[in-house]
Amino acid sequence: MTREDVVARYAGAVPTAFGLDVPGVVNRLPTRDRVIALTFDACGGARGSGYDAALVDTLRTTGTPATLFLNQRWVLAHPDLVAELAADPLFELANHGTAHLPLSVTGAAAYGIPGTTGPGEVFDEVAGNRETLTAATGAAPRFFRSGTAHYDDVAVRIAGDLGATVVNFDVNGDAGATAGARQVATALRSATAGSIVIAHMNQPSGGTAEGVAEALPRLTADGFRFVRLSEYL
Ligand SMILES: [Zn+2]
Repeated sequence: MTREDVVARYAGAVPTAFGLDVPGVVNRLPTRDRVIALTFDACGGARGSGYDAALVDTLRTTGTPATLFLNQRWVLAHPDLVAELAADPLFELANHGTAHLPLSVTGAAAYGIPGTTGPGEVFDEVAGNRETLTAATGAAPRFFRSGTAHYDDVAVRIAGDLGATVVNFDVNGDAGATAGARQVATALRSATAGSIVIAHMNQPSGGTAEGVAEALPRLTADGFRFVRLSEYL
């Protein structure tokens, strides 16, 4: 579908919902298996282009798979890292948007960040970074999460038309990378069979890496297995 197709198809479409959990957004894996999908966002931008090497080292040394949602700004800031992560079979790369905006056809805002203002901008937000990631890694990402993880239902339908599965979470692992290690570990230990956990891989000064390192062996001891999204979606 081209940008023009999207603009024509959704002209005049009126959303009926906006938020973290709207129709069409996947918040849990469709299974009762004792599995957890860890997802880590790399948001990019002036305050969001760091790299939490300790976190990624922990995932590697424990053999823990994860899905990494990379924003276009982060991808462009870290071409070598992106290639390295793409080549690591533990990880699956996913699309965290082009300009890191709430996905809306009306400009609806989240956390004070104004969203995209129409179907054409929704297309740009999804397809722009999809193109960048595809060029960087040789594979098109299947999963999409917007900046702020907010959507309206029309925007989610547009993402679906563009071949993207929109994935949020049921466990907020690090409260936007503001949580301390203890809080992160406690959040992760609240996961249940089929949970999708969101946390961040772009804020190395936060508590995410330490909290994840603390929680992983405990969750494994509780019989959980970690999976990439594509194993169940
Ligand atoms: Zn983000």
